Amino acid sequence: MKSALITGITGQDGSYLAELLLSKGYKVYGIRRRSSDNHYGTVAHLKDKIEFIYADMTDLPSLIKAVEIAQPDEVYNLAAQSFVQTSWEQPILTADIDALGVTNILEAIRMVKPDARYYQASTSEMFGKVQEMPQRETTPFYPRSPYAVAKVYGHWITINYRESYDLFACSGILFNHESPRRGLEFVTRKVTDGVARIKLGLMDEIRMGNLDSKRDWGFAGDYVYAMWLMLQQDAPDDYVIATGETRTVRELLETAFSYVDLDYKDHVVVDPKFFRPAEVKILLGDATKAKEKLGWKPKVSFEQMIHMMVDEDLKRVQAEIDGGLSK
Ligand code: NDP
Ligand code: GDP
Repeated sequence: MKSALITGITGQDGSYLAELLLSKGYKVYGIRRRSSDNHYGTVAHLKDKIEFIYADMTDLPSLIKAVEIAQPDEVYNLAAQSFVQTSWEQPILTADIDALGVTNILEAIRMVKPDARYYQASTSEMFGKVQEMPQRETTPFYPRSPYAVAKVYGHWITINYRESYDLFACSGILFNHESPRRGLEFVTRKVTDGVARIKLGLMDEIRMGNLDSKRDWGFAGDYVYAMWLMLQQDAPDDYVIATGETRTVRELLETAFSYVDLDYKDHVVVDPKFFRPAEVKILLGDATKAKEKLGWKPKVSFEQMIHMMVDEDLKRVQAEIDGGLSK
């Protein structure tokens, strides 16, 4: 039985990856942070199937212990302060987790289990002010937020450990990927949750930032499969994972609102509060390498994904209403 250690298991990707690895017969270990509500996040439904270990990306001894306990064949480093906007409010914390945290986990692997295969969650945000269209593995980085700057460090330290210590370390440069489990602060989920609340009469407007920015949005379930594929290859490498399509936030609004027969123009208010000090105007990925070498391609379309998210949010918000009424 293969063993995998996942950091960030309580987040969006952690839950889909845990489901995938469990379905493949892996023994799954997940790192959790101690918190006052002791939450399991997105993996609450799997809590009897996963072995949890308390650790933190900023605390090397706890990561060493986690690797000692799990003796993993594969380590997936998904933990991060992952919200771009927050990275301007907490730039030091973001760097501690998203940059130095990567060195911490790589050091733990190097010391305890150097033959473990390692996946680093890199991001299209590293392309930032894009230097080339579309963006591929060889496109130079131009990060535009403290988050992206920290992730560039994480990306290069992963490559450096591969080249310095011969670790099987891969970096997936994943473009935005979403799902009903996406955090409510990210634009797709903010919109689908807002659509559900407006449709069910709980609110009337959503306040948004830059509607012109463009993203290459895919489905998280498809993207975690690419992570796994990277670690099954003969040699470690870095890959762009993307759909190859880009849309504006405005198009996202149209897709979500029209699905429930509403017009976004009646409900969306642009609020400067949500504009960013430096914006990534457009991202568009070229996943040709992943297609050719991993045989990977996305299965769920943008429309299918947004409709799935609206459906799930409608169900959840309706359950909240029903729960409130029955009290
Ligand atoms: P989420 O924000 O949903 O999950 C982040 C996870 O990291 C949570 O489990 C969180 O735990 C954990 N975490 C945060 N800080 C620490 C810490 N100090 N120590 C240990 N764990 C910590 O992110 P996603 O699942 O969306 O993304 C997974 C990874 O992929 C991240 O690294 C992200 O930056 C990267 N990425 C994501 C993309 C996307 O579109 N989703 C695109 C490209 C890259 P807790 O529950 O305790 O907060
Ligand atoms: P990011 O690509 O990792 O920053 O993912 P987000 O989902 O947070 O943001 C995607 C894009 O949507 C960015 O260009 C944001 O500026 C834009 N955007 C516009 N309005 C909003 C909003 O209200 N919330 C968020 N999170 N993003 C918004």
